[in-house]
Amino acid sequence: MTKFEVVFITTPAIGQLVPIVEFAHHLINCDPRFSITILIVTLPQRPLVNTYVQSCVATSASTNINFVHLLPVELPSPDQLQSSIGCISLFAERHKPHVKQAITNLVATESDLDSDRRLVGFFIDLFTTSMIDVANELDIPCYLYFQSTAEFLGFMLHLPVLDTQLTTGLAELDTELVIPSFVNPVPPSVLPSVMLEKDGYSFFLQNARRYVETKGIIINTFSELEPHALNSVSTSQVPPVYPIGPVLDLTGSAQWHPDRAQHERIMRWLDDQPPSTVVFLCFGSMGGVSGSQVREIAFGLELAGVRFVWALHEPHKAQFGLSDDYMSLEKVLPNGFLERTSKIGLVCGWVSQVSILAHKAIGGFISHYGWNSILESLWYGIPIATWPIYAEQQINAFQMVKELGLAIEIRLDYREGSDLVLANEVERGINCLMDYDNEVRKKVKEMSKKSRVAMMENGSSYVSLRALIQELVL
Ligand code: UDP
Repeated sequence: MTKFEVVFITTPAIGQLVPIVEFAHHLINCDPRFSITILIVTLPQRPLVNTYVQSCVATSASTNINFVHLLPVELPSPDQLQSSIGCISLFAERHKPHVKQAITNLVATESDLDSDRRLVGFFIDLFTTSMIDVANELDIPCYLYFQSTAEFLGFMLHLPVLDTQLTTGLAELDTELVIPSFVNPVPPSVLPSVMLEKDGYSFFLQNARRYVETKGIIINTFSELEPHALNSVSTSQVPPVYPIGPVLDLTGSAQWHPDRAQHERIMRWLDDQPPSTVVFLCFGSMGGVSGSQVREIAFGLELAGVRFVWALHEPHKAQFGLSDDYMSLEKVLPNGFLERTSKIGLVCGWVSQVSILAHKAIGGFISHYGWNSILESLWYGIPIATWPIYAEQQINAFQMVKELGLAIEIRLDYREGSDLVLANEVERGINCLMDYDNEVRKKVKEMSKKSRVAMMENGSSYVSLRALIQELVL
């Protein structure tokens, strides 16, 4: 029987890597003839990514998923470039020789072991498009695994056209943008922050231009959630788009949580709370909150008087680092806050977000609006209030609030470092979020059901995955 091999490479971020590993599981479950190799970029600044990979390696012995660590390469110096996206794109590019070698070795070993095994696809992500060159050199079909919304995919695909129309830089733009994947004109205030940094725009454009060179685009969304956007990107100029989501790791970091005892403490505390009464606050794997913003959130929670779990992270310090847990919560929170709220709230560091969202005590989520967080919250039918911080989160928030009516607005255009959400805004957002008659809550519950149906046998995403498999094994 012919067997099929697929190779993935991704930027080393929890929000990119975890869904790819999950997708690999889906692919194998759907067709056991597949085996998957995931090329891991070495980045010591992200120990959490390494903890996750180690846990996958420990549990993947019985599956057909292999992890290959690439040789380390030097990080681009932050002096040469100004944007994080520029650094990531260049960092990825520097891996090309190692990736080529790793794939060549893989093919050689596999053909020694099993002459009936074919390498049928090399999957790259949003910012590793330089790997298309490697795929071309080795003559392997290249696919894009797009870990964001279909609206944002449409935005990226439209960028080369937009570029010819722009008379100013994006940072100076003062008119709304008409983008086919969006129903409404997009205000410049919700464009991704990194795109507004000096060379950020050109790196976005450089990556976006190459998407059409791939053989197909796999996207972690589902057609019931983004019908307009998916329709708009299904044109003859764009490779076939396969919406296969929501692909989620529903065990979450419960299995590889860096502090197991803390995880259990949080879950026990939630067990004691009444259903749907707790607000959960979490700002992603890279979203730290500091100084006066921490205090405003704390005062806002006290004003609202709600039960809460707050995953509070300190902004990352190292280049490419993830946000860290605070060494001392007392120092960053207002005086006496922890004592005053000890009966109604918990402040903690890294949490297993999906385990918390799955808990019956949770009634609302204040989130930085990373795409995985949105999909996880929709899956569990938990309404979200928007607090975008970095990456493409502002445009995600715009989509969920203005386009789809699936979220409560705290801010759409929050910019880290230059903005402050005051305590009374936090209080207002929480009150609206926890209003059980809110229309958003009902819509989120309906979308939750649709997300589950999409993943079932013959659901829209399942059908799309089967179509992708057919294309791969042709
Ligand atoms: N996450 C978590 N605990 C935390 C912070 C984040 O489990 O304290 C998980 C979250 O469930 C999600 C991922 O990390 O799966 C973050 O991905 P997302 O796309 O939401 O945001 P990113 O961190 O990539 O900006």
